[in-house]
Amino acid sequence: MSKDISYPPEKHFQQTALLPGLRNWMDEDIYEIGRNFSLLNVDFQLTNECNYDCIYCSSISGKKLENELKLIEIQSFFNTCKELKVKSITLTGGEPLLRKDFLDIINFLNKNNFKISMFTNGSLISEEIADTLFKNKVAICLKLDALNEKSYNCLTRTNDEFDRVFK
Ligand code: SF4
Repeated sequence: MSKDISYPPEKHFQQTALLPGLRNWMDEDIYEIGRNFSLLNVDFQLTNECNYDCIYCSSISGKKLENELKLIEIQSFFNTCKELKVKSITLTGGEPLLRKDFLDIINFLNKNNFKISMFTNGSLISEEIADTLFKNKVAICLKLDALNEKSYNCLTRTNDEFDRVFK
């Protein structure tokens, strides 16, 4: 018996209907991505530098690396992403907010119509940063390791970040 492999895969769309934010994304973009054999998303590690020292950190972050990319090199990379019809960029680290040119990067991505998401430990989100992230429609994946200070400090190997992050 032959299998029906018609596109778009409606069954998959139904499964994602539980996630309203993704529903539009899937309906609008996946079909085009499949037809063009292009990429939906690129994860980009902005820096290895981090103000945390989590016991489980998979990128062994901490110190900034000597050869981290400059703003102009990052912009050039994202221009290539645009040519390749990449739809969204996910910024990771280290802690992305430690980059002094972080807001320039966000503005550049927004000007070039990328959907933007980022991973952050949240400790450096000031009101100004929060406002900019909101205005640029940046989706945040905020890392909250524990709901009590003792566990949080133990997992992140920090001493005084708990209150700031939960504020
Ligand atoms: S906050 Fe993230 S990048 Fe920083 S040490 Fe923890 S897990 Fe690693």
